[in-house]
Amino acid sequence: MPTSPTPPRHVRVAVPVPALESLTYRVPPEQPYPVVGARVLVPLGSRVLTGIVVELPDGPPEGGTGHEGESRDDAPARPAPAVAGNEIKPVIDLLDSEPFLPSEIVQLAAWTAEYYACGIGEAMAAAMPPRAWVESERYVRLTDIGRLRQADQRGARRDLLERLTDGRPRRVGQIASQGAGHATLLALAREGLVEITMPLTGSAAAFRTVRVATLTAQGHEIAALDSSNCAGARLGGRQREALALLAGAPDGLDTPVLAQHGIPSATLARLAGLGLVSFARRRLERDPFQTGASTASDNKPAMTLTLEQQAALERLRSIAGAGAYGAALLHGVTGSGKTELYLRLASEIRARGRSVLLLVPEIALTPAVAGQFRTAFGERVAIQHSGLADGERYDQWHRIRRGDVDVVVGTRSAVFAPLRGVGLIVVDEEHDGSYKQEESPRYNGRDLAVVRARQAGALVVLGSATPSLESYQNAVSGRYTLVALERRILDRPLAEVRVVDMREEYAAGGPDVILSRPLREALLTRLERAEQAIVLLNRRGFATAIFCRQCGATLECPNCSISLTVHRAARRARCHYCNYSLAVPKACAACGGAFLEQTGFGTERVEAEVIEACPGARVTRLDRDTIRRRGAMARALAAFARREIDVLVGTQMIAKGHDFPFVTLVGVVSADIGLGLADFRASERTFQLLTQVAGRAGRGDLPGEALIQTIHPGHYSILHACRQDYRTFFSEELSFRQAMRYPPAISLVNVIVKGRSSQQAMQDAGGLVEALRRGGAPYRVLGPAPAPLARLKGEHRAQFFIKGTNRGAMRRALLAVLDARPELKRRTIVDVDPMSVL
Ligand code: ADP
Ligand code: ZN
Repeated sequence: MPTSPTPPRHVRVAVPVPALESLTYRVPPEQPYPVVGARVLVPLGSRVLTGIVVELPDGPPEGGTGHEGESRDDAPARPAPAVAGNEIKPVIDLLDSEPFLPSEIVQLAAWTAEYYACGIGEAMAAAMPPRAWVESERYVRLTDIGRLRQADQRGARRDLLERLTDGRPRRVGQIASQGAGHATLLALAREGLVEITMPLTGSAAAFRTVRVATLTAQGHEIAALDSSNCAGARLGGRQREALALLAGAPDGLDTPVLAQHGIPSATLARLAGLGLVSFARRRLERDPFQTGASTASDNKPAMTLTLEQQAALERLRSIAGAGAYGAALLHGVTGSGKTELYLRLASEIRARGRSVLLLVPEIALTPAVAGQFRTAFGERVAIQHSGLADGERYDQWHRIRRGDVDVVVGTRSAVFAPLRGVGLIVVDEEHDGSYKQEESPRYNGRDLAVVRARQAGALVVLGSATPSLESYQNAVSGRYTLVALERRILDRPLAEVRVVDMREEYAAGGPDVILSRPLREALLTRLERAEQAIVLLNRRGFATAIFCRQCGATLECPNCSISLTVHRAARRARCHYCNYSLAVPKACAACGGAFLEQTGFGTERVEAEVIEACPGARVTRLDRDTIRRRGAMARALAAFARREIDVLVGTQMIAKGHDFPFVTLVGVVSADIGLGLADFRASERTFQLLTQVAGRAGRGDLPGEALIQTIHPGHYSILHACRQDYRTFFSEELSFRQAMRYPPAISLVNVIVKGRSSQQAMQDAGGLVEALRRGGAPYRVLGPAPAPLARLKGEHRAQFFIKGTNRGAMRRALLAVLDARPELKRRTIVDVDPMSVL
């Protein structure tokens, strides 16, 4: 049947393919014109992919969404769209009648793709909940409205509704293929007569479930009978016990709970065999805080703000009061009560009917802040972080999308949470490196938070005791309002920091000393007083290298240019970059000699040393190796909070926002390991780590002390960290960055080219560098040189930097050069505003 010709209708679609820009497709006449943010199925080569509509080159559909086959001859003249291939391919199916991603989020993701020079589909993917890309099966079912209005419908619409009257969900494909078609179905969905859902296919594992046993009707009868009755008497003691327990639980009991009561699953199975018990599965809504360390006491009386807090709140409130975009840097020393300010601001913003987004570096590592939000706002909080199973994350995402919550707490990707009416975004520990995603899209969640706040007309508060140079510079230059908290709550003194010069320790005790004499003494004193201590070394493992005393060879990773770390408990030598490992060898692979020596040390060794130095102490280690098991981290922190552990040994993960009032000593072993790295942020990172970890001591009524072991006692980042003097550190570090032309003095793009051989990588990088220099634009190109990690996961890597003040020009020039060499583009990593250049 010929339909009247309709003007072409196009959409631009982001598909999840690396480094690809959006593609143009045409919408067949029988399909409605989609809205921005809707998902579509589109062909790409031989594949069919889910994409997101990011732009409507033919203008928005009128009246919200277009109707089937409606002619749009009023559409304005349009420019010829960019095309995927030679002809414009059609959209295969429209998956949503409403935006799946709200348009603000589509905008934010598009901004991300542009700024960080990645494919738009990659950026959209970062904003999507798990499983949204997969074409899992969609189901349609009748809604209550649909049932009420069914009788008024005619023709295809009526037929379709009739096939759903039994209330059972049907597969969309099945319903749509039988006459009515997608258009009718989507129209009905828009009007709310049917509901289309996307269940998670084949992913029961995405949710944690538990088996629940309930009594059947017969079971109830038997349970009600006296045990002397012959029907009951045939049952064993355990079986009767199980019936009695279940009779008292109308909703049934979880099998693990029954097991705790001494009822094994075999007993339940036998009862089920007799028809007395039935089973069902119930989904566990796992609350991330259930097992979390409640490090802050839960029943705190409502506190009166200190004068300093009050003044800070006043200033933040006045910025928020304008109801327009505003940015503030809250620079508050450790223990100055920043969290309380976040909470008060959040409740004020909520009272004004706007929503709140709180970003934290890593929930497992900083449970306190997130936990307090949860306590304060209860059910209105959704949690978004990568530690959740897919199904849980999917659930939380949809709760936010539906508007069931108005507070979202999450890690960096939560900056894309589909929260409506955002009025406040808080970025806690804004300097933290985990806000930067180290894979494409390489965005910084903190910086996107600022972009999102500007978009939403919201207040963004960046909080830290040790702000990043970038943020402090923005505050100094007036782009952000600087709000400072200079004092700890109750005027508790900052920990007294002492430097231990390890050169003296080596002179006295030999080169193998790990714990200095002052640190040993301080640990023993804490144990006597029943106080707690934290010992930090930012390197895990037992020994950091194995070398042969006969031929001098060191044991390197075959895939990466890095030596293998010895993990004693696992008895393996492991690469911390690619995870390659082998059993710790007994002889040198190069010369066969049996004189292998282990050098360097990590947390595993420090743990052993602490145990040896402090007989009887309860010592626990926290690092990536010990927290592999889910919940291990939270359990250890909770035990530490309950004072069941005396000394906590760990990597930087124990330096973060924990609040343990009985910790009065912090020891830092090898404070300078970070300083040796060829990274322009090495000093900044060392300063932050030392200041933060020193801030863990003396947060209760007892004064704290920090001991910092170093062989560079005069280095400025160590000196200023000891005095906890941020401002002096900032000005010295800023002059270093200005002199060396590093951020924030200029903008930096780090480019890494991967190749099969080092020559290939260097040559290809050289070609790009030359092309960039020919551009003659206002930037400088440095390099290429072999990357500090010249080989990683079997690939050789060459590196160059682009430095300049016009980030946009730098990015455009680089993309132009890369687009001319698509094969090379695939092997190139572009990192705009890199956190680390290693
Ligand atoms: P920060 O995040 O700045 O390091 P916290 O927010 O963790 O500091 O606050 C440190 C401690 O002080 C916490 O135990 C907190 O409950 C407490 N606290 C905060 N504000 C007050 C106040 N006004 N009065 C009493 N205690 C407070
Ligand atoms: Zn490796």
